[in-house]
Amino acid sequence: VQYYLTNIQTKAHLNAFVEVYEQSALTQADLINEKLANGNAGKLAGMVIGIKDVLCYSGHESNASSKILQGFESQFTTTAIQRLLDEDAIVIGRLNCDEFGMGSSNENSAHGNVLNAADESRVPGGSSGGSAVAVQANLCTVSLGTDTGGSVRQPAAFTGVIGMKPTYSRVSRWGLIAYASSFDCIGVFSHTVKDNALVMQIMAGHDEYDSTSSRKSVLPYSQLLHFDKKAKVAYLKETLDSPALQPEIKANTLAVLDKLKSEGHSVEEVSFPLLDFILPTYYILTTAEASSNLSRFDGVKYGYRTPNAHNLESMYKLTRSEGFGEEVKRRIMLGTFVLSASYYDAYFTKAQKVRRLIKDYTENLLNEFDYIIMPTTPSTAFKFGEHSGDPVAMYLEDLFTVQASVSGVPAISLPNGKDESGMPIGLQVICNSFKEAELYAFSNYLT
Ligand code: GLN
Repeated sequence: VQYYLTNIQTKAHLNAFVEVYEQSALTQADLINEKLANGNAGKLAGMVIGIKDVLCYSGHESNASSKILQGFESQFTTTAIQRLLDEDAIVIGRLNCDEFGMGSSNENSAHGNVLNAADESRVPGGSSGGSAVAVQANLCTVSLGTDTGGSVRQPAAFTGVIGMKPTYSRVSRWGLIAYASSFDCIGVFSHTVKDNALVMQIMAGHDEYDSTSSRKSVLPYSQLLHFDKKAKVAYLKETLDSPALQPEIKANTLAVLDKLKSEGHSVEEVSFPLLDFILPTYYILTTAEASSNLSRFDGVKYGYRTPNAHNLESMYKLTRSEGFGEEVKRRIMLGTFVLSASYYDAYFTKAQKVRRLIKDYTENLLNEFDYIIMPTTPSTAFKFGEHSGDPVAMYLEDLFTVQASVSGVPAISLPNGKDESGMPIGLQVICNSFKEAELYAFSNYLT
């Protein structure tokens, strides 16, 4: 804990942490030392963990990096965090992110930008930018993020660490401040596959507080990392042919595929004709869900309330106008539009149908192949301000990460070299639902 506290202090300018729980982390460390001496410590004894600012932790503030949740303190703890605490993990602090998880660069945070430690003029990715940099810069061993459309995998790729999104429903969402409930997943950042697998296996499993959490049993992923099979791997032609793809990322992805071939695995090119429909489908459905989820922030129940109201209606309007940031307002408006009576069928219902097509196509591929490999992102980390004036350019950053989110399948981003300017490149591996053990084992083989 002391090692990390020192690092957090010397690297405070990266702005990864919103709050550091210095005293409680030290006290917890003492308690765990005692338990270790008595031989009754949990499986994560001493593992130092940071948590994204959208995960509630009893007695602590959670803001979802939004002004509207200023001063909000939860009365309960996220199930996933509680399970880690029960195994004697130490929570060292709360990590910066894009407001309500909406963004790909961490530039939409009420707590300010997070700097990428590989090049401080560049973004760390988002929305879990603080969680990625906390691991990248050795400010904690492992961190929790959330991934709705890539928010764990994309920042992991931009910072050169491992980022895993499990199957939708594998980890309880209880305590996670909702963005788009049918997509949201809690995920893990780490330097090693083993740490990642261990934390995931402890968080995963049914939770009576989240009726969508799966009842399937959880395998001990961290003990199943040995990989000795011949894998059947597919890569999607449209991803590698994409004009948006940076040449070095293409080259490094092809190099992995070639290496796999030379080691006797089968590697096949397949076509994915639905690539162009994924982003529109994702942004219609997630904004619709967000507009509904965020209606609860009205100045009555949580956090910020405008001091400028003169009647009930102006209290709602001003609280929301002053409390939400620009990107969040854009999405509430877009989501409200696609859910409105006259456009519901044209946009929302249509997008639900396309989601089903994408999911079926992806699952069929994953029945035929063990893994799909593609780049995590079309480009490496870009400079601050590069996309902030153009939301559509920013949404394009999610081109390769949203397929797994729309389909609900697990996906991991692994470091895969660097580009000419020294920025990390990510390799994404996707597997069929509930095959986390297979995904971790293959990742272990690849790294
Ligand atoms: N960048 C995507 C978005 O803004 C993904 C965010 C996320 O996964 N939370 O929606």
